[in-house]
Amino acid sequence: MDKDVQQGFETLAIHAGQEPDPTTGAVVPPIYQVSTYKQDGIGGLRGGYEYSRSANPTRTALETCLAEIEGGTRGLAFASGLAAEDALLRTLCKPGDHVVIPNDAYGGTYRLFAKVAEPWGVAFDPVPLGDVAAVRAAVRPETRLIWVETPTNPLLGIADIATLAAIAHDAGALLVVDNTFASPYLQQPLALGADIVVHSTTKYIGGHSDVVGGALVVKDAELGERLTFHQNAMGAVAGPFDAWLTLRGIKTLAVRMDRHCTNAEAVVEMLTRHPAVRQILYPGLPDHPGHEVAAKQMKAFGGMVSFRMASEEEAVRVCERTELFTLGESLGGVESLIEHPGRMTHASAAGSPLEVPADLVRLSVGIEDVDDLLRDLTRALG
Ligand SMILES: *Cc1c(COP(=O)(O)O)cnc(C)c1O
Repeated sequence: MDKDVQQGFETLAIHAGQEPDPTTGAVVPPIYQVSTYKQDGIGGLRGGYEYSRSANPTRTALETCLAEIEGGTRGLAFASGLAAEDALLRTLCKPGDHVVIPNDAYGGTYRLFAKVAEPWGVAFDPVPLGDVAAVRAAVRPETRLIWVETPTNPLLGIADIATLAAIAHDAGALLVVDNTFASPYLQQPLALGADIVVHSTTKYIGGHSDVVGGALVVKDAELGERLTFHQNAMGAVAGPFDAWLTLRGIKTLAVRMDRHCTNAEAVVEMLTRHPAVRQILYPGLPDHPGHEVAAKQMKAFGGMVSFRMASEEEAVRVCERTELFTLGESLGGVESLIEHPGRMTHASAAGSPLEVPADLVRLSVGIEDVDDLLRDLTRALG
């Protein structure tokens, strides 16, 4: 292949890091289910591999592909999204440092900061990232990271990546973007100025609700080296089968995301007209406060839709009445899911600054026949 031509996203997703296997010609990277490698004399490594915590060929294929589709120089695959976040935090922060996080961050991210990082000595402030003045005010001399999620979970808030990158860099800090909700197909944070992209590959990247994984992608090669050192030293790596499943998911990411987005738009259109729905949170709606920024930095508005009912009871009732939308946590798979964040994914945020409205329903709109999805929701709304 001509390496001088910058290939398109769909091509990279299918081919980056995935040359046919040199020994067998297998067109898909095999699952190298192996812990150690024969050395030809001490230190004589055939492919650079010595032990699978340090590196494994299936994981290398995934990490190469992740770096290419996010436009970075280095990708790192972890056992889960939170393992990736933890490795990042402990590589870049030390006791005494400070981090700015979104005031509606993913619940597990908030828990990592509140229950693990803070007791260790890293302070943090939850801030509404849509409010640039509030972010500027929260930055201190000890601030190492501004941590961004956009869109956020479950309120679908939008943050301006380029603006926040400039604020972080002025303060000598780095900008981290959790790109889980958008996926690299819809949003390229590194190109917008971010330093590090975080993923729960469990979600859209894996895409089939069959694997838990996480990833980091960075632009700066030296930072990539430091993170790779910590990945090996801390050890929470993705196993070969999980790496293989994730890589398999990435091949169809673009076509899946296109359908997630068009199905979500149809669902939003139906909800807009439904009298039982009080408010819809979707960045594609012109009255969403982040609409303009989202339109500028995203290719489309994604497959996640949240909406508010008149009461908690009504929200719970809708969640329990759908049939095709499966009641469950997680998101980003081909199948549609529905959940009540207040009692499910975000129950641990109750009483914290990240508490979510009790009347909120969150949908992960899948890629089923859209008419079936609309029928199911309409019936459940009553
Ligand atoms: C799920 C999720 C995480 C955590 O990832 P795991 O793979 O569950 O550890 C982080 N950020 C966001 C936005 C998520 O949705």
